[in-house]
Amino acid sequence: TTADWQAADAAHFLHPFTDFQALARKGSRIITRAHDVYLWDSEGHQLFDAMSGLWCVNVGYGQEALVDAATQQMRQLPFYNSFFQTTTPPAVELAELLAQISPPGFQHVFFANSGSEGNDTVVRMVRRYWDLQGQPERQVIIGRWNGYHGSTMAGASLGGMKYMHAQGGLPIPGIDHIDQPYWIEHGRGMDREAFGLKAARWLEDKILEIGADKVAAFIGEPVQGAGGVIVPPASYWPEIQRICDRYGILLVSDEVITGFGRTGNWFGCQTMGTRPDLITFAKGVTSGYVPLGGVLVGERVAKALIEQGGEFEHGYTYSGHPVACAVALANIRLIRQLGLVEHVREDVGPYLAQQFEALRAHPLIGDTQTCGLMGAMLLCKDKAGPDGAPVAFDASLEVGMLCRGHCFANGLVMRAVGDRMIIAPPLVITRAQIDELMGLIRRCLDLTLADLRQ
Ligand code: PLP
Repeated sequence: TTADWQAADAAHFLHPFTDFQALARKGSRIITRAHDVYLWDSEGHQLFDAMSGLWCVNVGYGQEALVDAATQQMRQLPFYNSFFQTTTPPAVELAELLAQISPPGFQHVFFANSGSEGNDTVVRMVRRYWDLQGQPERQVIIGRWNGYHGSTMAGASLGGMKYMHAQGGLPIPGIDHIDQPYWIEHGRGMDREAFGLKAARWLEDKILEIGADKVAAFIGEPVQGAGGVIVPPASYWPEIQRICDRYGILLVSDEVITGFGRTGNWFGCQTMGTRPDLITFAKGVTSGYVPLGGVLVGERVAKALIEQGGEFEHGYTYSGHPVACAVALANIRLIRQLGLVEHVREDVGPYLAQQFEALRAHPLIGDTQTCGLMGAMLLCKDKAGPDGAPVAFDASLEVGMLCRGHCFANGLVMRAVGDRMIIAPPLVITRAQIDELMGLIRRCLDLTLADLRQ
């Protein structure tokens, strides 16, 4: 029963990013099945999953092609590794397919099991690259405050979540950060595009402060996901590209969320107009059905790794796991077959943007942003203060959490990052389902507003 599961859960399972005492007091919600964009809990309640699990179930739940791929591969060959000059057909075929769908210049992949491991791989690969170039002093990788790159020592260090750094003595050496391109926080009163340029130039300032000959790479998410779906001004990424080119530093696009169609292109860097050297991926590569992640390696780094010889002393038991790769193959083929990238770019992405703009008329909403099927709405006290920007609620009111509570109670999974309510629904979502989702969102906003007015 639900109560049995909750008791065993509280007694034994230390959940990620969870206050254990709060969980024991309240009990977990036990999710038992899913289909399309919907989840059901152990009490039979239906939930609209506007977060695609954790930004990963791109093709939606219940896709038999992925289930069949996993089953067949498990029967045929459940595991073999890719160490020591062996490999398996699914790993090879997936590497080839990834090369086909990647931006020009990406012909190689290094497999890991998660986004965090992908980013750990990035740190080691970037430093190996500069060693091979005879510039081993190029060690520093620059990330952004409020960026998220995973939870391992290197991933959490690259990220800029200060509450994560506070536990475990992070960041590890050789990692630095600049501020995020969040207009509401750093650009109030400025023209948004002018702010985009200013925010990008913080990278140049940082490079000059450290010394260009010590900087190895810059890493960023095309659209910050866990930081609150922060869509940068259009001027931002091209300026970042110019700065990376000018100082010869590697550009790493963390596409763990933005990869595999989420922004209306196969990869977010294509939407933002950058030419990265490395692309981290995970989540959408298998639509989350099984774990898989890795790094797409562009020509510049691949050439050095391959042509300059020697072993890259890095890898995981499950790098190129055949079952995970078989599922990824089925998933990518399904994304193609269903035309999901175009569906996001031409149909549901623009439709969601329209619906989010209309939400700005709601008394609680001070700003909205979307990019493909990522969306954020900012809950605010006043739509515009003296500087024309929204006025925040007192943080102690935890208005985002209040709204999230109403969502959960009313059949909607939406996430709160401070007072930014965010969504990233499965790419298979239809216009009719977006209408349904907007109805749920409005209902939860009204309930939140009613609480605040009491
Ligand atoms: N990078 C980004 C942009 C992410 O959003 C995440 C997870 O949400 C990660 C890396 C870490 O991925 P994982 O949780 O698979 O280790």
